[in-house]
Amino acid sequence: MANGSSDHSESFVKIPPIKFTKLFINGKFVDSISGKTFEAVDPRTGEVITRVSEGDGEDIDLAVKAARHAFDHGPWPRMSGYERGRILMKFADLIEENMEELAALDTINGGKLFSLCKVLDIPGAARILRYYAGAADKIHGTVLKLSKGLQGYTLREPIGVVGSIIPWNFPTIMFFMKAGPALAAGCTMVVKPAEQTPLSALYYAYLAKLAGIPDGVLNVVNGYGETAGAAISSHMDIDKVSFTGSTEVGRKIMTAAAGSNLKPVSLELGGKSPLLIFDDADIDHAADIAFKGIFFNKGEICVASSRVYSKGIYEKIVKKLVEKSNAWVVGDPFDPRVHQGPQTDKKQFEKILTYIEHGKREGATLLTGGKHLGKKGYYIEPTIFTDVEEDMIIAKEEIFGPVMSLMKFETMEEAIKRANTTTYGLAAGVITKNLNVANTVSRSIRAGVIWINCYTAFDLDCPYGGYKMSGFGRDYGLDALNQYLQIKSIVTPIHDSPW
Ligand code: NAD
Repeated sequence: MANGSSDHSESFVKIPPIKFTKLFINGKFVDSISGKTFEAVDPRTGEVITRVSEGDGEDIDLAVKAARHAFDHGPWPRMSGYERGRILMKFADLIEENMEELAALDTINGGKLFSLCKVLDIPGAARILRYYAGAADKIHGTVLKLSKGLQGYTLREPIGVVGSIIPWNFPTIMFFMKAGPALAAGCTMVVKPAEQTPLSALYYAYLAKLAGIPDGVLNVVNGYGETAGAAISSHMDIDKVSFTGSTEVGRKIMTAAAGSNLKPVSLELGGKSPLLIFDDADIDHAADIAFKGIFFNKGEICVASSRVYSKGIYEKIVKKLVEKSNAWVVGDPFDPRVHQGPQTDKKQFEKILTYIEHGKREGATLLTGGKHLGKKGYYIEPTIFTDVEEDMIIAKEEIFGPVMSLMKFETMEEAIKRANTTTYGLAAGVITKNLNVANTVSRSIRAGVIWINCYTAFDLDCPYGGYKMSGFGRDYGLDALNQYLQIKSIVTPIHDSPW
C-alpha cells in the first residue's frame, strides 16, 4: 500500500476470538429486549467481525434502573474512598494483564495501531484508573465559620447516576476518561459506546465485575445514537451526562437534558486547532510536531493541528512535511512497520474524501496524498493542502481525518486573530524560542489547552476541554473528578456563643 506498506494479507498477530457481544446490565451479559443486533466491522476490510446486541430506550431504562438501585441502596457510594480506590486499582491491574487482547479489539474494530494501543490506549486506561483511585479517599469538603450564631461545612457527594456517551476514535481512553473519575467519586454509570466501536467496552465491563465492582455500578449498553444515546440524554433518572463527540450531537444532548430533568452535561466536542510556527523555530522539530499533530491516530483526534500557520520558514517546512509524508506508511494497523491504519468506518472515510474534493475545487493546492488506498478497507493517504484560504471549507470545518491545511502569516497579531477565527476552541500550539511570543500567543488564543513547543502532550493531571463551540467541562485532572460530585452545605446554629 502507500509507501510500501502491507496489504493485510500477512497475519502479524493472532487475533483472539471475540468473547463479549451482549449488553452488560446489572452485572450480567444479556440480549437486548428487542433481540436486535448490529454489525461490528473491521475497517481494514469492511468485513463484519461479529454481531453485537443493539440496545435502545428500553435497555437504557433497564440499565438506569440497575444503576439507580446500586446508587440508592448499594455499597459503592457508601464504602470508603479507600475501598473504592483498592477496587479500581485491581481493575487497572486486570486491564494490564489482558493488554494484548484488549489492544487487538481496538485495532480490529477501530483501525488503531496495535503497537500504539499497547503503549498508549490500554496502559493509559490503567493509569487513568490508578490516578482517580488515588484521589478517591481525598475528596474533601470545607469547614465554614459563617455568620454569628451559625456554623457550617460542605460535603462533596457523588452526583448519582451518570450517563456516558462516547465516540469511536479512542474507544478505550474515552471510556475511562469518564468512568475513572465517575467511579472514584462513587457514582454509578450507564455507558453507551459508539456504534462503530462496541467491542472493548464490553470487555471492560467483564473486568470491572472481576475486580469487584458491584453489580449495577457499571452498565454498558451498545446501540445507536438516535435511540440508545438519545434515551440517555432525555432520561428522567440520570443525574448527569458526560459526552464526547460532535458539536451537532452535543447540542442535541444539551437540548434533551434541558427538556427532561435539567441534568448537568459536560460536552467535549470538535475542534479546528491552529498551530503557529514562528521563524525562530527549529525546522525539523517544528515539522515533526506539525506532522504528528494531525496524522497521529489517522487524524481522528479532536485536538488535531489541522490548521498550520508559518511565516518566513514556510517553504522549508513544506519541504520537510513532504519528506515526512513520503516516509509515512499507511497499511494494516497490526503491522509494526505501519504508521497509519484505516479510518474507523465507511461513513467517516467517505466524508474525508469529500472534504479533499472540496479543497481541490475551492483552489487549494494538493501537496501530498488526496487519494484512498487499497482495494478494500478505509485507507486514506496523508494529505496536505497549501495555498489554503481562511474561508475555504477545509480551513473552517472539522474533517477528523488525515488532512492538513498549510497557511502563511505575516505578524504575530495577525496570526493570533486568524487562529481565533473559528467557532471552535479546543486546542492550539505555538512553536518558538521566544518566551514573550509563546506567552502572548498562549494568553491570546481562546482554547482549552495551548501546547508550547510540543503538541498532543497529554498528562492525566492536566485538565482538557473546550472554549466556545468545542464544549464545556473538563476531562482529566481533579477538575474532572469535581464534575461527578455535588456540593452539599450543612448548617447548624451555635447557641450562646459570642463568635
Ligand atoms: P457523534 O457525535 O455522532 O457520535 C458520538 C457519540 O454520540 C456516539 O456514541 C453516538 O452514538 C452518540 N450519538 C449520536 N447521536 C446522538 C443523539 N442524538 N443523542 C445522543 N447520542 C448520540 O460523532 P460521529 O458521527 O461518530 O462523528 C462525527 C463527527 O464528530 C466527527 O467527524 C468529528 O468531527 C466529531 N467527533 C469528535 C470527537 C471528539 O473527540 N471531540 C470524537 C468523535 C467524533
